[in-house]
Amino acid sequence: MLNARTIDDLARWFRASARDLPWRGPIGSPRDPWAVLVSETMLQQTQVSRIAERFPLFMRRFPTPGALAAADQREVLALWAGLGYYRRARNLHAAARLIVERFGGAVPRTVDDLLELPGVGRYTAGAVASIAFGDAAPIVDGNTARVLLRVHGRATRPDDRAARAWLWDHAARIAAAGARGVGAGVVNEAVMELGATVCLPAPAAPRCDACPLAPACAARRTGTQARIPLPKGRAARQTVHCASAVLVDGAGRIVLQRRAEGGMWAGLWQAPTVERADRAPTRAELARALGLAARDLHARGTFTHATTHRLVRFDVYRGAAPRRWPRGAHAGDTDRARVRPDQLDAFALSSAQRRVLRLALGGALSARRERAAAAPVAKAATYARS
Ligand code: SF4
Repeated sequence: MLNARTIDDLARWFRASARDLPWRGPIGSPRDPWAVLVSETMLQQTQVSRIAERFPLFMRRFPTPGALAAADQREVLALWAGLGYYRRARNLHAAARLIVERFGGAVPRTVDDLLELPGVGRYTAGAVASIAFGDAAPIVDGNTARVLLRVHGRATRPDDRAARAWLWDHAARIAAAGARGVGAGVVNEAVMELGATVCLPAPAAPRCDACPLAPACAARRTGTQARIPLPKGRAARQTVHCASAVLVDGAGRIVLQRRAEGGMWAGLWQAPTVERADRAPTRAELARALGLAARDLHARGTFTHATTHRLVRFDVYRGAAPRRWPRGAHAGDTDRARVRPDQLDAFALSSAQRRVLRLALGGALSARRERAAAAPVAKAATYARS
């Protein structure tokens, strides 16, 4: 257990070394609970540098739960573009609506109430309760688990049931000690920051010489940092095969379709795509689904995209978009649009689909998008229905 003096050292280090991030003000100053909820939701499984770009845009458009609750889901997903894992955006949208309906538009302050919000688990509830409201609520994520296991020299998997119980219990004691002194939010955020910037995961080496917990750290004392924690167990990933057709019309517009709600990348936009679980769809199958001739689709390459639970293998084709869709052409879409390259940022596309477009359109896409980057983001409503 970290003692009061070590916690003070940790807090001092955090005040001096915390990264300047758009969702943080001066350390220890009051924080907007909505901004904490949004940033903590974005931080799950996404790089900080990406969030630093998107968070200010998102908060400018949705500065309160009420503003997000009143928005159309397509706009919400478009503003989430680049962050991936769009289920989080849907959950945040639903959470905003619940905050308006049940909590009068103010983010609830207790862990129990926060846990009622869609997409809010024990970690996010603890982060909001401690950082925004100063409650002695514990947090455990990958970063904090690594720090605590190393400090205590526990060579175990962080997802092991007994280790999870120990971590939550220990985190609760640290938050309580923080609440008696430097503040529960400060100490919680300090452990997170230490894990993200100093106590780095293998194969990187932790920067023990710069660590405020070094005098108390068992892993450092025994030289076992690289062996703690043990790697998590991994379930076998399912393989999915996709064939995507990037179709461009005479005006240079790209055909996008919206995926059905539910399942992988639900509701996101994509180049028309056919998928199978057993084998790669053939060019003929893709062409037939679109009402085109197979000879009109030209192979542009393949790649494999790994998600947490799946390996998705893409075969990418390029072709000319028909003026009109033949009767029966569907490729599983619920909605279709023709989009100029400079409008793509207004569409919620998975990172895999951005790669599909890059592969098919190459330099033409990057040059146009670079020009578009200097212009204001196009509104989703201005694309042409296809
Ligand atoms: S001393 Fe090294 S291993 Fe221990 S907590 Fe600090 S950075 Fe991590």
